Amino acid sequence: MKFGGSAVADGGKIKAVAELVRRCREKEKKRKELVVVTSAFFGVTDALHENAARIASEGEVEKAKSFVQDLKTKHLTAASEAIKDKRVLRVVTREVEERLGELERALTGISLLGELSARSLDYIVSFGERLAAPILAGTLRSLGQDAVHLTGGEAGLTTNEDYGNALLLRGAEETVREKIIPLLDSGKIPVVCGYTGKTRKGQVTTFGRGGSDYTATLIGAAVDADEVWLWKETEGIMSADPKIIRNARRIPYISYAEAMELSYFGASVLHSRAIEPVVAKRIPILVKNPFKPDDEGTLIGEEPEQTKKAAKAITIIENTSILNVAGTGVRSISEVVARVFSALASEQVEIFMISHGSSERTISIVVNTAQLQRAVSAIQKLNANADAGGGGGGTVVRDFTSNSSVSAIGVVGVGMAGTPGVAGKVFSALGKEGISVKMISQGSSEFNISFVVRREDAQNAAQAIHDVFEMGR
Ligand code: ASP
Ligand code: MG
Repeated sequence: MKFGGSAVADGGKIKAVAELVRRCREKEKKRKELVVVTSAFFGVTDALHENAARIASEGEVEKAKSFVQDLKTKHLTAASEAIKDKRVLRVVTREVEERLGELERALTGISLLGELSARSLDYIVSFGERLAAPILAGTLRSLGQDAVHLTGGEAGLTTNEDYGNALLLRGAEETVREKIIPLLDSGKIPVVCGYTGKTRKGQVTTFGRGGSDYTATLIGAAVDADEVWLWKETEGIMSADPKIIRNARRIPYISYAEAMELSYFGASVLHSRAIEPVVAKRIPILVKNPFKPDDEGTLIGEEPEQTKKAAKAITIIENTSILNVAGTGVRSISEVVARVFSALASEQVEIFMISHGSSERTISIVVNTAQLQRAVSAIQKLNANADAGGGGGGTVVRDFTSNSSVSAIGVVGVGMAGTPGVAGKVFSALGKEGISVKMISQGSSEFNISFVVRREDAQNAAQAIHDVFEMGR
């Protein structure tokens, strides 16, 4: 179970969240055992990222100090608003001050060194959760609940060393169980820091932005939870982004496959790997608003036939670029593809879509624009290496171009599989709007049709498709 998300912002909200935990625990017999996963306070993770980078590049120790002072005010104010029991407040204040001391030392270190490795960045940004967890646990204790807080590492979340995007190691589920179950057996509420884990050597890692969702589902799967609740300040999962699409609606029921496609395809409501851990055990996930706990939210789980739809939701990935790579005639397409993708993989370029124009030996690849430069230089290096003799026979890539003024759009629905005419409906809606499509791909699972259009057409394209399928209804 998870409480928090970006919801936790101030003392009043923390108290509301703690009340919610208490009510859930007291109301229902079978939910007496709760694990709480907390995210950082609102805006803190962003601030840690920005300040770590700024302090490393500007090297000013004073800036580190004043930033830590701001965090102190923010967290101690919230703690004193939320925690009424003076004794508990004293303990929590001391914990918060200790954490901030560690953070200040780390920031001072990077300001002196003038550099910020991925490893030290993960350590620094983990403080958002490490400051929130003692405050939430303290608030619960002052409400008479026996809460203890743990870092991700202490909860058994042992990961690889992929800083900023860590993956759980095999066997870690067992460790999580060993850490968490005895706490539950002794009537405690574990309050676990979301977003973070640790390596075998004890270094702090993070799961990537929004990673508390992933922490919650990892722990839920490890302890065989009945349900995982993701509390977010939203109505639930929406048929489209309501800021972009008129009449976007809450989706009451969504399958694992659809939610996975959506989160992978840029819908920011869920962490991209959050669904994975619970699928095998078929644990349902509820997405709900902690400040409107009686609202229905969205249920992610095994879907009954009646609610299946050919197209249930649509999402736009804004900052994407297309790379068109043309191979040389002397190499087979499979060789060109193999080399291009391994070059991209070695630079850790994330790929959203791929398509292949057969006669021209051209592959089109959609990447995040933030990674475009890395992708381009990886491909340039390919030719350079081949010319230098490493490629066994000259140039790999004849030509390549990139276009950054595009958006990728994904249409998602499990009812799409085997239903004729869905793609026809999608593209004729675009035709009626006079929008031309630059690239198309459909996964073999048939849960998703994705395509690329000019950036200025993206909103109209998505609206037309949302309308034609009456999504959200
Ligand atoms: N605090 C982290 C973030 O802002 C993790 C999370 O909120 O889930 O990305
Ligand atoms: Mg957050």
